[in-house]
Amino acid sequence: MGKKADEIISVLKAKGLRVTPQRYAVYANLLSRNDHPTAENILTDLNKDVPTLSQATIYLSLQTLRDVGLIREVLLQEGVCRYDANVSPHHHFRCNCCGKIEDIPWETFSNLSIHKLRRGLKVDHYEVIVQGECNSCAED
Ligand SMILES: [Zn+2]
Ligand SMILES: [Zn+2]
Repeated sequence: MGKKADEIISVLKAKGLRVTPQRYAVYANLLSRNDHPTAENILTDLNKDVPTLSQATIYLSLQTLRDVGLIREVLLQEGVCRYDANVSPHHHFRCNCCGKIEDIPWETFSNLSIHKLRRGLKVDHYEVIVQGECNSCAED
C-alpha cells in the first residue's frame, strides 16, 4: 500500500484537513502496515527514532483521520481498539493464539447472503470475523 509523500498530503487535503506533521506521520504509518496496530503500537513505532509524539497527539490524530473516513477502527477484542487504513469492505481473521489480525478479501465470502435475516432488520454494514490459528502458530 506504500503511498508517496505527496499522495498522502493530497489525500489529507482532499478531506479538508490541515496537514500537520503528526497527522501525516500517523496516516503514513498506518498506510505502511497491515497488522492493524493499536494506538500504542503506532506511538512506539513513530517514536523509535525521534521521540517527539505524545500519546494524546496520536489519539487526536487517529480520531481526526477516523472522522473523515480515512481510517477505521477495528474492534475484534474486548477493550482493544485497533486501526486500519484499509477502509474498503473486507473481513478479518484473528489468531486466538498470537492475536494477529489479517485482512480477508471481501470476495472470499461472496456467496454470503444477508437476505435471510428476519424481516424488520435494516443492515448498515456487516463483515465476517474468522477466529482460529494462523500458520505460524499452527507450526509450533
Ligand atoms: Zn498466530
Ligand atoms: Zn483490516
